[in-house]
Amino acid sequence: MKRILNFERISVDDGNVCRHCEEQLRRAYEKLELAKEELEFLERPKRSIIVSFPVKMDSGKTRTFTGYRVHYNDARGPTKGGLRFHPELSLEDVKNLAYLMALKCAVVNIPFGGAKGGIVVNPKELSERELENLTRGYVRAILDYLGPMKDVPAPDIYTDEKIMAWIMDEYEKASGIHSPAVVTGKPIELGGCSTRAIATSLGGSYVMGEIMRYMRLDKRKLTVAIQGFGNVGGNIAKILYENGIKVISVSDSTGGILNEEGLDIPRVIKHKKGTGRVTGFKGANEITNKELLALDCDILIPAALSDQITSENADDVRAKVILELANAPINVEADDILFEKGVFVVPDILSNAGGVVLSYLEWAQNLTGDYWSEDRIVKRLKEIMTTAVREVYGQCEPLNCNMRVSAHYLAVKRILRAEKLRGNFV
Ligand code: GLU
Repeated sequence: MKRILNFERISVDDGNVCRHCEEQLRRAYEKLELAKEELEFLERPKRSIIVSFPVKMDSGKTRTFTGYRVHYNDARGPTKGGLRFHPELSLEDVKNLAYLMALKCAVVNIPFGGAKGGIVVNPKELSERELENLTRGYVRAILDYLGPMKDVPAPDIYTDEKIMAWIMDEYEKASGIHSPAVVTGKPIELGGCSTRAIATSLGGSYVMGEIMRYMRLDKRKLTVAIQGFGNVGGNIAKILYENGIKVISVSDSTGGILNEEGLDIPRVIKHKKGTGRVTGFKGANEITNKELLALDCDILIPAALSDQITSENADDVRAKVILELANAPINVEADDILFEKGVFVVPDILSNAGGVVLSYLEWAQNLTGDYWSEDRIVKRLKEIMTTAVREVYGQCEPLNCNMRVSAHYLAVKRILRAEKLRGNFV
């Protein structure tokens, strides 16, 4: 067996993302037949930055914080990826997530490398002013490595558009140059994109549409179940409903609701807004999250947590297609069981890439100063997502592999190709 990447378990919110990643990569590598020096190269990020910086607190005292930024690979363009604020963040987490970003950007073929960053902090304990001081302190600490053509952060866990605006402002103050493209996920008034909030779900719906075409699934007869009703799950439910697709079940951490005739999603959204949960909704039966995953439906969309389908329950899955909108909702053992059963799994690095694709469109508009209509943005997002699905799907038969292996294979191949064209490998 070939040597494999030494990824460790991700401890922050993403569950086992990279334990999973390692195994998938091993499979892709078997297909790729990588040379020793290529593997050696891929195993390590190009640059890992650890910074410590002082922040003035409201108490009048100063606290020193630790921040990270990892640029995994930049052969295909400036590095790109989110910035998260989390008390348990480690450099290892950031490194693994940066690698996933490199793969994600490569699989959808946008001109970015992969990065990730963060600050070890519980943002809920800070006042707004402290949060601003913290963000600006971090920007000053990594300033030399930041820039529209170097590294472009975006929101992630516990960071939002307000924080992105501060990042842009601090960078511009330091450089003396207007540079909206230094960060994405900004407020619209500062060069952000209006479709940002729904980008992951919208991208996922285009991926799903393409797969439906390949599998000749009739939209009028289709049934969908969605695990998770947060930003991603809630928005894809809404998009599908508006497109006349029957969503029979949705869930959140309190449990799920089922109506085989199709849920009235706008009413479910209203109910969730009012009560904070989907359960208790009139006009549906209540089920558990576990039952939702085993529903007899055409498409199952895990849009919540990682590690939801394991060897314990993979056999119970009755859906024809699984669209992974969450990160790593299916573990490696379950992946094999589902493959044997003939369940068609669309992997996370493809299904949920809509967010970073929208970041790319925001960045491109910021660089050119040519701002597009919403229609044009959505059209381009669709084009990029469907092309990627076609390319990943098109490789499955010749390679005799599933969509996940194909997506990893395509991404790694693209990154290595860029390195080779640059003359870094023979
Ligand atoms: N939070 C997203 C990620 O890291 C942001 C990606 C981006 O738009 O740069 O996956």
